[in-house]
Parts: sequence; structure tokens; C-alpha cells
Amino acid sequence: MKPAPFDYVVPSTIDEAINLLADDDVEAHVLAGGQSLVPAMNMRMSRPELLVDLAKVEDLDFIRDEGGALHLGAMTTKRTVEFSPVVAHAQPLLHAANMLVAHPQIRNRGTVGGSIAHADPAAEYPAVALVLGAEFEAQGPNGKRTIGVDDFFITYFTTALEEGEILTSMRLPAMKPGTGWSFQEIARRHGDFAMAGVGVTVELDSAGHCQNTRVVPFALGPTPVRATAVEEAINGETPSAALFESACQKMADGIEDPTSDVHASVGYRRHLSAVIGARALEEAVARARAAN
Ligand SMILES: Cc1cc2nc3c(=O)[nH]c(=O)nc-3n(C[C@H](O)[C@H](O)[C@H](O)COP(=O)(O)OP(=O)(O)OC[C@H]3O[C@@H](n4cnc5c(N)ncnc54)[C@H](O)[C@@H]3O)c2cc1C
Repeated sequence: MKPAPFDYVVPSTIDEAINLLADDDVEAHVLAGGQSLVPAMNMRMSRPELLVDLAKVEDLDFIRDEGGALHLGAMTTKRTVEFSPVVAHAQPLLHAANMLVAHPQIRNRGTVGGSIAHADPAAEYPAVALVLGAEFEAQGPNGKRTIGVDDFFITYFTTALEEGEILTSMRLPAMKPGTGWSFQEIARRHGDFAMAGVGVTVELDSAGHCQNTRVVPFALGPTPVRATAVEEAINGETPSAALFESACQKMADGIEDPTSDVHASVGYRRHLSAVIGARALEEAVARARAAN
């Protein structure tokens, strides 16, 4: 399969990239790692006339732990995240989730910003962003702006980024000391997209009750979501397998319009999400206990 003909430019500044994208007469797309865009072009599902490659744009490839948050430039590759001691120390949940993304060859090229902007519902990065309460920096013809994760993912492969806007970085606030976490998914083979996944963070109060729980199932619908009913059912309670199983079963039964495809039926996806939701909560509580 070959893509339709296209032009290709490699700007060196963000302003130059934004100007190239702003030309209304040309269908221009940002190229990051190309791991989703290029296959889509090869299958003629995407036919940009111009690719604006961000590879040489300055200051888009960085990892910084500063000001109570981990900052990741949009062009940081998943391979860089994988080997970053800063990420492993500051956000172990991100490190764990990153290891579930595809294979080394794809992590070598695929970027943080590409996964967030592409917004595949079965992708790990959008779920990480939601469970950790990310903020995104974007820059476009109207300047810079910050977008909170709750407003970012709209539906399948659709985000709040506007025409001509470039995602420049993601900010993940540090977890409170003592927070337990887990990120789990079930895929047909290691490296495949998840059939069902979940990210969890949980704190324990002085009496050992759960508090500030965040549960984010993904690969089940158009975007990752906060399972607020599960969170409410668990907060203030003593953790137990029975509590987690019953809350996650309710979550699974209540998922609106779950995805059904050749990989997994609706019923199987519901079952998987209930099982891994409970497993993830147990693992997160064990980590919180070990840290307190
Ligand atoms: C075989 C295979 C298996 C994979 N398995 C997984 C998996 O298990 N989990 C997973 O999450 N992903 C998986 N992927 C996808 C991979 O992680 C991609 O790298 C990722 O989805 C897109 O990142 P990219 O940097 O390659 O972006 P690109 O493919 O270059 O771009 C993707 C889209 O985002 C836009 N875009 C990119 N960067 C920006 C930006 N900074 N600002 C605005 N728009 C931007 C592009 O215009 C394009 O529309 C897989 C890919 C392959 C080929």
C-alpha cells in the first residue's frame, strides 16, 4: 500500500510550523512519530497534501520534573520515556503504562504528543492523562493555551485541539506521597492495543479507608472516562476484595454503549473490565499500604 502524493516540510521553529498549518488552501497535517499517521496514509484513510514534520522543532523533546509536576514535551518518544529515571521516579504509573504500548520499534518513533493528539480510545496515554489529571499546552494561530484533561478528549480520535493547533507538552501533577496506583490491561498479545484497560490511583486515610480514588477504564468506549460511581462507592470504605469486585461489576454493567469488534464482544469487554478493575484496585491499595 502506498500513500497518495504529498509534500513534506521540516520547520525548525514552532511559529514556522503554525504558519505552514495555517494555509487554508492546503490540507496540512502534523507529522510526529508517524506510527499512526503513516499507516493511515498508506491505507488512504488519510490524504494530507502536506506533512509538517515536527522532528526538528526546538524545545518539544524534554522531560522535566519541576514545580510539583512532570512535564513532557510533545515530541518526546516513548522509548525516551521508557529509559527515563525521572519518569520512573516521578510517575511510575506512566512508566508502567508506557511499557504496554506496542513494541520497541514503535516506541522508538511514537511520541507522547502523537498518542495524545491521535486519541485512540484503546491507547494507554489518554488513560494515563485522565487518571493523573493532566494538563496540555497547545499553540496555534491564536497563541498558546492550556487545556485540562477533562475537556480534552471529545470522542473517537477527536480532541479539543483546534484546526492548525499543535500540542506542545503534557503536564502531570505529582501524586501525593503514599498514593497507590495500578495500570492494567488485557490484550490478545503483549504490545497489542488493549481490549480492556484501567488506570487507578488511591490514597488511604489514617484509619485505612480509601480516599481520593480515581478509576479510569479505557478501550471500552469513545474515550477513557472517570468511573465516578466506583470511586464514590469506594471512598470512605475499608478496602476489600468483595467491595472492589462488586463496585467494578456495577461499573462494567453500567458502561454505556461499549465497543464491540472482532477482538472482543460487548459481554466479554464488560467481563474483562470488571475483573481488571478489581485487580487494579487491589494492587493500588497494596502499593498505598506499602508506602504508608
Ligand atoms: C503495530 C502498531 C502497534 C501499536 N500499538 C499501540 C498500543 O498498543 N498502544 C498505543 O497507545 N499505541 C499503539 N500504536 C500507536 C503508536 O503508539 C503511535 O505512536 C501513536 O498512536 C501516535 O504517535 P506518533 O508520534 O507516531 O504520531 P503520528 O502518527 O505522527 O500522528 C498521529 C496523529 O496525531 C497528530 N499529531 C501528532 N503529534 C501532534 C502534535 N504535537 N500536535 C497536534 N497533532 C499531532 C498527527 O497529525 C496525526 O493525526 C501502535 C502503532 C503500530 C504501528
